Amino acid sequence: MHSTIFDRVLQRRSVWLPHVRRLLEKRADHLRKEAVEEHGPAENCGVITPAYVADVCDANCRGCGYAKSAGGRRYVLTVAQMCQEMAAHAAAIGTNNAAIIVLTGSYEHGSISKRNSMVWANAMGCKAAAEAGFGVILESSPFTQEGFGEILEAMPRAAHDRARSTLFQETWDLKRYRAFCGEDVPENPKGNPVSRAEQHRLAFEAGWRHAGVGVLLGLGSDIAIDIASTIAQAHVLRDMGYRSVTISIPRLVGGSFPEAWRCDDETFKKAVAIYRLLCPWAKILITARETAAMRDELHDLCHILGVLGTTKVGGRAVYPDRGIEQFKLADTRTRDELGV
Ligand code: SF4
Repeated sequence: MHSTIFDRVLQRRSVWLPHVRRLLEKRADHLRKEAVEEHGPAENCGVITPAYVADVCDANCRGCGYAKSAGGRRYVLTVAQMCQEMAAHAAAIGTNNAAIIVLTGSYEHGSISKRNSMVWANAMGCKAAAEAGFGVILESSPFTQEGFGEILEAMPRAAHDRARSTLFQETWDLKRYRAFCGEDVPENPKGNPVSRAEQHRLAFEAGWRHAGVGVLLGLGSDIAIDIASTIAQAHVLRDMGYRSVTISIPRLVGGSFPEAWRCDDETFKKAVAIYRLLCPWAKILITARETAAMRDELHDLCHILGVLGTTKVGGRAVYPDRGIEQFKLADTRTRDELGV
């Protein structure tokens, strides 16, 4: 009986926690300088943009505009619409060093027809993105091993090495995890943090070889624990055989959380530098939820930047002026304006 990824992360984070605590005591500008001097500036910066090929999420994460209780429009794009959506993304950002995040939310337990099943929607979305020339980031869950396999196999084989399965653990603080994701009950596909972390094993066994991890900084009551756990998780996945690991670094912003939970700018900058210092082989990803000034300041440490998405054929709006958003975007520059 193997130990779970969750258990292995808890064991290994004790190695990283003292380093993280020590580094958090330094100033962010010192850490940034240290990271660039030690590992060089991050090179070959790429971009990602989200494509919601379906929105039928049965989870109820607090503060998310896509949560079941938010009452938004429910849809599953047809294959033709997904292809149109990818063509619109290609026209907007080009496909060179660019990836699409394929999203549907979490609805394994929902009552949906076979035609609209979560595996089907993600498989067709990944296929459309890969065939349009993009790298692919699968960011939905949960799946069985067979489900992960079906999604991978839907893409042309040549695209497999540009495909990544990303799973946000949100936080390793279990009390706050429950406060954010809801209770572990059969109706809630996101309620169990242990089975959530285990998704990376199922993806690996199904053939996925690139992984993504991350927490929502500020959600956990002790940021050092969340950073150290994420570093431990990246190491566990690398040891498992993943060829690359990306660390996404979103932070808590927005209305429905206590002010005290927020991750301030100085701490956020430290977190980015610490990931770069302690996981120099990982790719660092910063979303467009950060301001232009913040992203410019951290550019040396980033391998991937989030950019705007499109809404050509019915995907949920990620442009601020076109309806419900999942999260607020702060940097609305185009790829050309970003210069990447
Ligand atoms: S954060 Fe993701 S899983 Fe949670 S409600 Fe929103 S779309 Fe669903």
